[in-house]
Parts: sequence; structure tokens; C-alpha cells
Amino acid sequence: MPNISICLPDGKRIDIKVRDSIRANRFIMRVNQQTSEFCISRPIWRSIDEARIFVERNVPWIAEQLMKLPARVQFRHGSIVPILGKEYKIAHSPKEFGNVWLKESLDNKMPELRVSGGSEHMPRRVRDWLKKRAKDEVAYKAKKFSSLLNKEIKSVSVRDTRTRWGSCSSGGNLSFCWRLIFAPEKIVDYVCAHEAAHLVELNHSPRFWQTVHQLVGEWKSSKKWLKENGARLHRYG
Ligand SMILES: [Zn+2]
Repeated sequence: MPNISICLPDGKRIDIKVRDSIRANRFIMRVNQQTSEFCISRPIWRSIDEARIFVERNVPWIAEQLMKLPARVQFRHGSIVPILGKEYKIAHSPKEFGNVWLKESLDNKMPELRVSGGSEHMPRRVRDWLKKRAKDEVAYKAKKFSSLLNKEIKSVSVRDTRTRWGSCSSGGNLSFCWRLIFAPEKIVDYVCAHEAAHLVELNHSPRFWQTVHQLVGEWKSSKKWLKENGARLHRYG
């Protein structure tokens, strides 16, 4: 895929991926909220030069989109991360024993996610801990829901998936995106119930949604929440 490289008013250069499209009847530019990448669809009868002119004409739009993208939150001292809907401040505590642990607060201060050891290891330690926490959570919930349906799960795993929050194989292997840990608990419940319901119905038929409803009650708002906020869960770490 060829790229169009352009210079923004602040001097920053960015690359726009060009995708040839037989269906597009005009230039369409999009930004991926998760990866912050820009891409332009080019109708096959329009030239690359024309695509470049289109991109250059839309530099103000590109700059505006870049401003609106959710800022990345690194796993370092002082960063705030939500865990199942509750906010924690990452606090480096090099001399304490432990590895990573939650320190709830007795006064009104924000609770902390404390990390011991060298600061260079903090990002990896926080990430590993959150992944493990995510796996424990989804495994517990998925098992609870599957037993309500009298079904057995073969395995539960967590991955860093970009396009889906969960999946269920016909053999009963469930997989979830570990970044669900940054979502409110109600949302995690919905995704786990959704995948558990696939143990009964391997489709999205009305009967499938009835099963989801049976497990978690009203689910449409959770589905909507993921659609609207899901990309933001990818900005951590
Ligand atoms: Zn599904």
C-alpha cells in the first residue's frame, strides 16, 4: 500500500495509507481511533496525485482529528487507570515488598496501584498484573454464566485483540481481550455472558439474545457502551 506523507502546520509529518477501492466513488479519509492511523480510500480511476491534493486540502481536518484522539496513558508513576470502573493512580513504591498490588484509600484520596522494584520494569509489571487480573475476572464470570446454562468451558484465555472483545469456538474455548479490565464491571459481565451464550447458540439469533438477557438482563446499553467507548480502552499502556 503506498503512503502519502504530509507535513502538518506544527511541523509534524504523518503518513496516510492509501487503499485502492473498487466500490468508493469519491475519496474518503478515515482515522482509526485505536491505532491513530489515517487512511484514504481511492476510487481506482483517480490518480495518486489527485489523492495527494485531496489530503493536502484536508490538512486542517487531519490536525483537528489528531487533537480529538484519546491521549495515550502510559503505565508510569502518576498515571490514572480505571480497573473495572474504579480509578486507581499508579504509584511507584520501590522499597516495599510485593510486586504489584492495590492499596485502597481510607480517606478521600484516590486508591493506588502500587508497583515495587526498578522503575524501568514498571510498564511491564503493571501490564502483566492487569492481564492476570483480567484473566481471573473473565474466567470467573464466564464459568459462572456457563454453569447457569449447564454448559462446560474448555479453556479461557486473554489476548490483546483489536477488533473483538471476546470469542467462543465450537469446542468451548473462550477468548477475551484483556483490556476489558479497563471497562466497568457491567460491561465485562455482558461480554462474558455473550460468549457463554454462544456455548448454547453459535449465532446471533433472537434466541441467542434471549439467552444473554437471561444471564445479565438488559444488555443493549452495554453493547452500545462498547461501540462508543471501546476504542478508549486501547489507549492504556
Ligand atoms: Zn457473538
